[in-house]
Amino acid sequence: MRAVDRVIVQAQLDLSRFRSCWSPVSDQILTYRYRLCPSKAQHAKLQAAVDHTRELMNAALEERIGAYRKAGKSISMYDQFGGLTELRRCSEYAHYSVRLQRWPLQQIDQAFKAFFRRVKAGQTPGFPRFKGKDRVRAFGFVDDKGWRLRDGYLIMKGIGAIRLSTHRELPGSPLTCVVRRYGKRWFACLTVRVPNEDAHNGQSVGIDMGVKHLATLSTGETIPNRHSDDRGRAAVRRAQRALARCKRGSKSRAKVKARLARLREREAHARTTHLHQVTADLAKRFGTIVVEDLKLSNMTRSAKGTVQEPGKNVRQKAGLNRALIDTALGRFGELLTYKAERAGGKVVRVDPKHTSQTCSVCGAVDAANRRTRDQFTCSSCGHCGCADHNAAINIARRGGVLVPGDVNVGRWVERCLGNLV
Ligand SMILES: [Zn+2]
Repeated sequence: MRAVDRVIVQAQLDLSRFRSCWSPVSDQILTYRYRLCPSKAQHAKLQAAVDHTRELMNAALEERIGAYRKAGKSISMYDQFGGLTELRRCSEYAHYSVRLQRWPLQQIDQAFKAFFRRVKAGQTPGFPRFKGKDRVRAFGFVDDKGWRLRDGYLIMKGIGAIRLSTHRELPGSPLTCVVRRYGKRWFACLTVRVPNEDAHNGQSVGIDMGVKHLATLSTGETIPNRHSDDRGRAAVRRAQRALARCKRGSKSRAKVKARLARLREREAHARTTHLHQVTADLAKRFGTIVVEDLKLSNMTRSAKGTVQEPGKNVRQKAGLNRALIDTALGRFGELLTYKAERAGGKVVRVDPKHTSQTCSVCGAVDAANRRTRDQFTCSSCGHCGCADHNAAINIARRGGVLVPGDVNVGRWVERCLGNLV
C-alpha cells in the first residue's frame, strides 16, 4: 500500500468513527455497571491505577495554572496529550495504556470547561481543585482501546484480567470504560449506544410530583414514596456520632468512615431502585408525560437568610428540604425523560405556577382554594377533591393533554387564558 493510500484509508476510518460517535436523536448512550471481582493482589493493582490517575490529574492542573501564571496563556487538553507522549518515553510511564492516562487529562479539561461556562453565565463557581488522597476513586479509558472484555473478564494493560460479574447482558459493544471504587468494592461502568424504540402505548398523562406521594397521575392514581426507614436513618446517625468521636487520621476513624459510606450507599441504592422501577413503568404506559418544570435549586435553598435579615420558618424549611432531597424529584424527572425517549415517547415540562391553586373544574385561581394540604375546595364552584389529583389534571392540560370524561374543558380553558393574560 502506498503512503498516500494509507493516509486516505486512515482518514476514512477516522470519518467513520466520527460518524459512529455522532449521536442522532434516535439512540442514547447509557451506562451499564458491573461488579468486578478482583483478587487481593488485583485490588492493589486497581488502587495503584487510581493513584496514578490522581497524580496525573494534579500534575495536569498544576501545569495549567503554571502556564497561565507564566505566560498568561491557557493550554488545551491536546497540548497536555502531547506532554504525555513525551513522558511516556521513559519506561515507568509506559506501564499503563495511554488511553488510561488521557482520561484524567480529559477530566481536568471538562472541569475547566464547566468552570469557564459558569463564569460566563455570571455564577460564582469554585476553581478546579487539587485532589487529596481520598478524593479520586476511579480511573478510566477515553475510548474503547487499552482494555477489552473477554469471557467474563475485563482485561486492561498494566493491570491484568479481572473477573467481571455479568448479571445482565450488555446491549451492544461498549464505547468507554470507567473503573470505580465504592468502599471496598469495584465496579466497571461501561457506556453503550442503545437505539430508541416504539414501545409505549400512546396514551398521555399529567403528573404532579410531591413529598407526600412521589407522584399523582391525572388518571387519579397515586404512586407512593419510598422514604428512608427510621432504622436505616438511626444507623447513619449512630455512625456519624461515632465518626465525630474518632481521632483524626486514626485507623478506627477510617473503619467507621467506611461503615458510614456503606450505610449511605445502601440508602441511595434503595432510593434509586424505586425511582427506576416507577419511571420505567410510566415510560412503558404513556407516550406523552407532562410534568412541572420545578426549579429544585430554588426550592431547596436554605431559609436561613442573612444576619441582618434572618429568614422565617427555618426549621420547617429544613424539614421540607430533607423531604425533597429524600424523594429526589430531580432524579425522577431525569430518569423519566431518558426512559420515555428510549421508549419513543416524550416528557413535556410546563410552568408550575398556580397548578395547585387552580380549580380543575371551573378554572378559578385562588390561594384560598387549597385550604389544607390534601383537600382541594374551590371557593368559586364548590368542587372538592384530592389536591394532588386536581394539580395533576391542571398540569396535563397545560401540556396540551385532555383529560377524558371532562365536560368543562371549554369553560376551564377560557378562564385559564383570562387568568394568564
Ligand atoms: Zn371551581
